[in-house]
Amino acid sequence: MAIFPCDMCRKRYPGKSNSVYLGWMAGGYSDRRKLNLCPRHVEVVDAWLSKNLSLIEVGGVPQTDDVEISKTCESCGLEPTTQTWFANTYVRSEDPAVWARGLCEKCGGRVLQDAPQAA
Ligand SMILES: [Zn+2]
Ligand SMILES: [Zn+2]
Repeated sequence: MAIFPCDMCRKRYPGKSNSVYLGWMAGGYSDRRKLNLCPRHVEVVDAWLSKNLSLIEVGGVPQTDDVEISKTCESCGLEPTTQTWFANTYVRSEDPAVWARGLCEKCGGRVLQDAPQAA
């Protein structure tokens, strides 16, 4: 059985690897994170994704009709969208999922502050 280190707590976990790719683009700037997660931190990141991004696709099957990034912030609905957030998750032997959301400056900043990162 393979053993993987969790990027968030540094503990090793057995079984299948759980990988999350998280990225965002704002103007000319973009960044990307890859996290390997233990089962406990899969829960933590799942909760963060459910709160901050929208589930677009699971196993290649669209989960929404609304696939275009909105011109207006999808969080506050007020300010223009200046950032695009996206994530790909490969966790718990489930089908790979795609998440995305367009956010304004303010909401994007809040999401970034709270974003899962390696310890
Ligand atoms: Zn962990
Ligand atoms: Zn906003």
